[in-house]
Amino acid sequence: MAPRKRQRLILIALIELGERATTKQIAKRAGLNVNGVSQNLGVMDKYVERLGGRGSKTTWRLKVNVPYAPILHGEVMIKAKMVLHHDDPPCTARLDENGYCPKCNLTPDIQNTRLYPYCPTCNLSLKEMKCPNCKWMFRNPS
Ligand SMILES: [Zn+2]
Ligand SMILES: [Zn+2]
Repeated sequence: MAPRKRQRLILIALIELGERATTKQIAKRAGLNVNGVSQNLGVMDKYVERLGGRGSKTTWRLKVNVPYAPILHGEVMIKAKMVLHHDDPPCTARLDENGYCPKCNLTPDIQNTRLYPYCPTCNLSLKEMKCPNCKWMFRNPS
């Protein structure tokens, strides 16, 4: 499940601060009240780990393997990004933004191309609509 809105702001702030920060730093970055941030972090053990410290100086770290995509987008299923590839077996290389295949050194005709779903956050090709890096599931945009 994706985190709630306020928790999402806290997580985004923590990510922007390099995945490790104090309650006070997170609150400042997120533009939220320190006490509210502290209360939220206390129940966010699915996402964050408490490293030590007290009160507003408590240090938090984003848990390893927490996927960014649901935090940043806050939706259960977000659209995959569709990327054009060469489709002329054996070549299935990714084409550049001009539709040029760097492997074959040519610009294939549109019928020799195919769209592949990608993770918009990691910019990686999905395996069965799942990102190999952030492990998030995406849906087909069509
Ligand atoms: Zn090619
Ligand atoms: Zn990803």
